Amino acid sequence: MSFNSGIELDPDRVSTRSTGRRGAAIGGGSVVAVIAVMLLSQLTGVDLTGLVSQDDGGSAAQTGSSSIDTSMCTTGEAANTYTQCRMVATAESLDAVWGEQLPAQDGRAYAKPDFVLWNGNQVSTACGSASSAVGPFYCPGDSTVYLDMSFFSDMESQLGANDTPLAEEYIVAHEFGHHIQNLQGTMSKTDRSGTGADSDSVRTELQADCYAGTWVHYASTTIDPETGKPFLNKPGDEEIQTALDAASAVGDDHIQQRSGAGVDSDSWTHGSSESRVRWFKTGLEQGDLSACNTFAVAASQL
Ligand SMILES: [Zn+2]
Repeated sequence: MSFNSGIELDPDRVSTRSTGRRGAAIGGGSVVAVIAVMLLSQLTGVDLTGLVSQDDGGSAAQTGSSSIDTSMCTTGEAANTYTQCRMVATAESLDAVWGEQLPAQDGRAYAKPDFVLWNGNQVSTACGSASSAVGPFYCPGDSTVYLDMSFFSDMESQLGANDTPLAEEYIVAHEFGHHIQNLQGTMSKTDRSGTGADSDSVRTELQADCYAGTWVHYASTTIDPETGKPFLNKPGDEEIQTALDAASAVGDDHIQQRSGAGVDSDSWTHGSSESRVRWFKTGLEQGDLSACNTFAVAASQL
């Protein structure tokens, strides 16, 4: 989804962290990744994409420790050119959409999450330390979305989803969806330690997908308060399809198939490809938070 060239961005909407070359300091072994994942799981707030099961620590070794420069991220053109600027613009659009929709639809005030772009070995959070193998995640303890800048190339190379702008934006919008759930109290009310196709974990993730779709529903009509222009141009069907492809790629069954393991729905934490696409579409088509209540539907409708 392309950003309107006339919008104005604030590079300070994101913060950046660089922590050294990936794999160099801690060995980059999958055991390290698994430990990091377990730590996060125990401390809650984790959003595992499943990449850990395939990450041998070397898949993105070219990712260095260079700092992430967002100083040029001031315009829609920059957002359409540079990934880090697209992250800034996506966050600002999400802030604008949820700043309107959360009060209007749910009677709650919206408070912005922090958004950290990082590269390197690991990142320290209120939910514990995470390695880049974890994938993007939201930590309710510090109300922060963490996104490793190497994730999008991993998404393409390991999960087979084309790394397109709207696919990237879907990932960010999904993590902001967890922040909305946190504001709604859902994060603290649900038991996300369990797994399985109808577990609270999966219901939480599918609702975040639905909220991501809800953002797309409003993103091309919600106005940048700085300029009076919409943040985004209305996405075409082909662009939408790339987001649906990304949602499908991060389905548990697809990830299990890619990793060579058999499909085992008892271990699912995020839901099937089909479910993730369907709930994203529900938000996209309806723009109605109440239609995203994955906790209210029978297991057969997840
Ligand atoms: Zn999630």
